[in-house]
Amino acid sequence: QQTLKPPHVAIVPTLGLGHLIPLIELAKRLVVHHNFAVTFIIPNDGSSMSPQKKVLEAVNLQSISSTFLPPIDLDDLPKDAQIEARIILTMTRSLSALRDSLKVLNESTRVVALVVDALGSDAFDVAIECNVPPYMFWSSNAMALSFAFYLPSLDETTSCAYQDMLEPIQLPGCVPLHGRDFLDSVHDRNNQGYKATLGISKKFKLASGIIVNSFMDLEPEIFKALKEAQVSQGFPTVYPVGPVIKPSSTCKSNGEHECLSWLDSQPRGSVLFVSFGSGGTHSLEQMKELALGLEMSGQRFLWVVRSPNETAKNGTYFSSNAQQKDPLSFFPDGFLERTKGVGLAVPSWVPQVQVLSHESIGGFLTHCGWNSTLESIVNGVPLIAWPLYAEQRINAVLLADDIKIAWRVKMNDKGIVEAQDIAKYARGLIEGDEGRLLRNKMKELKEAAKVALSQQGSSTKSLAEVAEILKGHK
Ligand code: UDP
Repeated sequence: QQTLKPPHVAIVPTLGLGHLIPLIELAKRLVVHHNFAVTFIIPNDGSSMSPQKKVLEAVNLQSISSTFLPPIDLDDLPKDAQIEARIILTMTRSLSALRDSLKVLNESTRVVALVVDALGSDAFDVAIECNVPPYMFWSSNAMALSFAFYLPSLDETTSCAYQDMLEPIQLPGCVPLHGRDFLDSVHDRNNQGYKATLGISKKFKLASGIIVNSFMDLEPEIFKALKEAQVSQGFPTVYPVGPVIKPSSTCKSNGEHECLSWLDSQPRGSVLFVSFGSGGTHSLEQMKELALGLEMSGQRFLWVVRSPNETAKNGTYFSSNAQQKDPLSFFPDGFLERTKGVGLAVPSWVPQVQVLSHESIGGFLTHCGWNSTLESIVNGVPLIAWPLYAEQRINAVLLADDIKIAWRVKMNDKGIVEAQDIAKYARGLIEGDEGRLLRNKMKELKEAAKVALSQQGSSTKSLAEVAEILKGHK
């Protein structure tokens, strides 16, 4: 009987695990704390969907189910098309199948919301057509959301390439942001990725609400400004519900990872964790410079190493090369022998959430992916910010200039971060007085995050508010 069934939320993630994983965490909260049922409806670009299937199978909650849409064809897309263009187009070409799927779901249950991620707002039209309120789960911070809100007006009011803009822009409530730090996908206005990103940004206004993976006390001024923009400019209501991160128990694989036992034998707060997200890579030159810098610092380190990319000068999302060759074979001669005992280099992957919660970790050299950042905040670990792609440069500006829990690395004229600078950051963060300032601020935020997620905390209340609104939808 329809009325006895729990209200149902349809979640439509765009391609890639980076979007799916935070949406699964949101789904779990909706099910466990607010008694919703959730169905993931998943667009498919024709690639193997087995990573997605694997993480969904691991969820193991009866009220969460999933269905995959038929694969679409992207053969007409140029080979060098930006990843954003590929992701957005997959959604656009899946809309008709999504419509059918949503209609079927709506006939058998009461669907009270359709939730997409940051790149999925093309699906809003389908939701509205089916009389289902469209929501977005913004898995990054409020500053990056502000940028997305204002992108359409930036597009109209400026004509030069953003990186050539002489003055930084001043988004309401935010520290100044230079054009060179904008999203990767908007750097070339003639690129398909730019048009696609602009197109989806224009649709944000259609959302009934935007659920944000940040919390009030982390970005108070920006959330305040977004609330004002809701009144003055008709932006959707924004609900800060974070930090929403994977619990460390879900990362446990077969037995304990070797890096955790290595960490057990290191002094408290002494190790710099070096990792660039699920796929960040550097050029060979940069990788060698990083190795020399870590060695020169004399600090203990745990480095998740990927093979260098062949094309990009600086950081990029990984190339096929990165998966094929042994990453440790690219180090400068003798590096592993010289740093033996002081550093541990692990190829490709470590259980990061467990690593960051280990008491031996004293700092994190990160690409500033938002999940990594939140995982660091909940563990009170201060940062060295080395942004690579996507919205990571905006995140670095927020972390370094506004919240002041990170130092941002400087690049030379060739776009390389030099060994001596890396050594200076590493030493300063682990041993220095300036590092202590960052650590203290991080500790405050760790507590603030805990409070936000407590029973009466701002993030808990904010998600409960969304849940009540959804339950009221007829
Ligand atoms: N991660 C991990 N082990 C690794 C590298 C990454 O568990 O060796 C996880 C990390 O904990 C985080 C996610 O992968 O949850 C990376 O997300 P983030 O937003 O930081 O960066 P992205 O991969 O999307 O660039």
